Amino acid sequence: MKPYFRRIICLLCALLALSPAFGAGAQPCLSEEGMEKFTFRELSIFDTEITLIGFAPSREAFDSVCEEVFDALRYLDRVFDAYHGDAEINNLYEVNRLAAEAPVEVPEELFRLIAWCKEMWENGLRSTNIAMGAVLSIWHEYRENGTKEPDSASLPPMEALQEAAAHVSLDDVILDPEKQTVFFSDPALLLDVGAVAKGWAADAVLPLLMERMPSFLLSLGGNVYAGEPPLDGRSAWAVGVQNPRPGEWADRGGAILDIMDVTGLTVVTSGDYWRYYTVDGVKYHHIIDPDTLMPSRQAVSVTVICKSSALADFLSTTLFVLSWEEGLRLTERIEGVEALWVLPDGTVHSTPGIDAYSRYLKPASGGNAP
Ligand code: AMP
Ligand code: MG
Repeated sequence: MKPYFRRIICLLCALLALSPAFGAGAQPCLSEEGMEKFTFRELSIFDTEITLIGFAPSREAFDSVCEEVFDALRYLDRVFDAYHGDAEINNLYEVNRLAAEAPVEVPEELFRLIAWCKEMWENGLRSTNIAMGAVLSIWHEYRENGTKEPDSASLPPMEALQEAAAHVSLDDVILDPEKQTVFFSDPALLLDVGAVAKGWAADAVLPLLMERMPSFLLSLGGNVYAGEPPLDGRSAWAVGVQNPRPGEWADRGGAILDIMDVTGLTVVTSGDYWRYYTVDGVKYHHIIDPDTLMPSRQAVSVTVICKSSALADFLSTTLFVLSWEEGLRLTERIEGVEALWVLPDGTVHSTPGIDAYSRYLKPASGGNAP
């Protein structure tokens, strides 16, 4: 493994080690006796459905953990929001509005997220580029309009995309760790952390969950984190991998393509079915290839399993843009990362280690259809 990947992994492992259940001072598992399973669902955060399932001694105990977790997620949603201003915090929208004029002091979570993504970019992982906001905002506008008024849906002009693509260098995002400020040396640059925000948020609430309710399953749209095993006799949480084409590929288990049995791991999926609009009968989704400036057609879904949800989220977007062969080579260089690709022709590929979790597919590396 290259030194910089080792450094990234060490950094993430150090973060995870802060949580009691993963660290050296791990707490013993709670006994199953007297523990009940509870579920809470919320639709207004991160523009997605968030579900927390957990085993707790009482409804009150579960509610109190839920309140803290969802307060933290609500706050992070405000901080990472690129589309709405915030009167109280310098969130991403405010950074995009002000950072070309003067350095903007930002909340710690936002600073650390930008710094981490910039480090990944500097280390050569450039398919997920959070400085592509100028390009992504054009796609966002056309997708929003095309969804509201499907009859007049159109594609963004390539000239506009290319013009925006001249302003996507993370070298132009100047960070001052002491003052915790962000400055743009390119006034046309915009940040968009949509590719990593949910994963980062899942990791952020992990220490709290591990301390207060270690047997949990947290799902933020396509990002799922499974804590310690469920206290109902099962040895792992079952996390479904969605069938990206349930209509066309109904013979592959209907809505669920596979089930991953996991504990202490995150399962994150990037798919072309989450956000898209249709122009002249063709679907245009939300994951944009920085080279072509068009929605990537390499895969229809990519699922990543590892210990850090931020890394899994970053990588799911990265692998979605790369060919699966390039992606496989990348995963081989990063310890503890497994991935599953579903390609547009329906073939499924995976890293060999997916076997440890996959219930049905168990595809050999090199790929085979389910
Ligand atoms: P995900 O579902 O995690 O793959 O993230 C998709 C979101 O990331 C999109 O809605 C955009 O906000 C953003 N995005 C799309 N393409 C890219 C890219 N190549 N680099 C960085 N962010 C992207
Ligand atoms: Mg992602």
